[in-house]
Amino acid sequence: MNAYDNALKQLEIAAGLLKLNPDIHEILKQPKRILSVSVPTRMDNGTMRNFQGYRVQFNDARGPFKGGIRYHPNVSLDEVKALSAWMTWKCAVADIPYGGAKGGIICDPKNMSTGEKERMTRRYANAIADFIGPHRDIPAPDVYTDGQTMAWILDVYSQIQGHPVPEVITGKPISLGGSEGRYNSTARGCVIAAREAAKAKSLSIKGATAAIQGYGNAGSWSAILLEEMGAKVVAVSDSRGGIYNRQGLDAKKVEEYKERTGSVVGFQGTESISNGDLLELQVDILIPAALENQITAKNAPNIKAKIVSEAANGPTTPDADIILDRNGVFLVPDILANSGGVIVSYLEWVQNLQRTHWSEDQVNEELERKMVSEFKTTFEKSKSLNVSMRDGALTVAVERVARAVETLGVWP
Ligand code: NAD
Repeated sequence: MNAYDNALKQLEIAAGLLKLNPDIHEILKQPKRILSVSVPTRMDNGTMRNFQGYRVQFNDARGPFKGGIRYHPNVSLDEVKALSAWMTWKCAVADIPYGGAKGGIICDPKNMSTGEKERMTRRYANAIADFIGPHRDIPAPDVYTDGQTMAWILDVYSQIQGHPVPEVITGKPISLGGSEGRYNSTARGCVIAAREAAKAKSLSIKGATAAIQGYGNAGSWSAILLEEMGAKVVAVSDSRGGIYNRQGLDAKKVEEYKERTGSVVGFQGTESISNGDLLELQVDILIPAALENQITAKNAPNIKAKIVSEAANGPTTPDADIILDRNGVFLVPDILANSGGVIVSYLEWVQNLQRTHWSEDQVNEELERKMVSEFKTTFEKSKSLNVSMRDGALTVAVERVARAVETLGVWP
């Protein structure tokens, strides 16, 4: 199944649970706008490459389109469409006044120089400039794009407008109006979700054991913040493999070690463990924070964690969902568990529009309040419908978007 078929399937499940008006279901099956742009770029060796770029704007009934821009060789139109639908549901679950969008360029950023990436980014920004804007569509970073990429897009957009427009983009460096707390907001939201799930299972996060797959931004900060809450992180991994110590690791030291050596593998006092075995450890909390399709029908029966909090997008396949749910695993789905990033992006936009700058404590308090509130809404919805948290979250989201679409009506 391709990603967009998955997204449509999920919409169908939510539509069934909600007994959704078929007219609204029909509208929600397709993105509102798909931009396909060519991105001619002068390479360092003097040749010209013409990259394929996309921006898909899925739905803006609840507010301006919002979503990241991804640079990856596997970007495809169907993937960007699916990600734009998931952004729509994520912003709706988080109850922030945004619709959903996503962008991408088919390219191999690992094999491009900074200059090549800058020229490609600026040309892409120019190609989509008429379709983005602080009240229209607000891009952000995603896989292999970062604060510097956002700064280039901001510069192109501001030059076209003739004045600085920091609120056109989020995930900016702090020097350009970025928000405090954005650097670890996805992980912070994800561990708050895990903590609330633990409460729901009458488990204490203090002393709970955890395993984390992926030790990048979301994974390493999840480990550090879980430790701050008193949990014991016993295993972590990256693309080269994993490490395990049943007494617990020191997440900050592992991060420093990875920074120094390029991988968590070989950290002192640990045993090696494969990424597959890590997922099946006897732990209280499992955080997939790497790639999609990691928990499948094949390994789902062996998952022993009581709670799975999805930092990654799409780490669990729909077949595996059914197995985990049957086995009583409490899964906090990606659109809720990793919404901390977009929530703080929203707070960044609010600060920019108000020409103000909040402290990190202020940002974190607001994030905590929103995560707890939306976890509660989703938990209650899933209990009332007697469905998984995944279907509960989707239902909350689709209901909110559908209500907005229906109330606006179709004109002309
Ligand atoms: P990142 O690039 O910082 O880190 C990814 C980590 O995954 C790296 O440690 C990498 O080594 C590891 N990895 C790659 N392949 C692996 C494999 N086969 N097995 C195990 N580990 C592997 O990325 P990130 O920003 O931390 O994002 C991770 C996931 O979280 C992605 O699915 C992303 O879409 C999702 N996410 C991130 C954010 C955010 O704000 N960073 C927000 C929402 C969702």
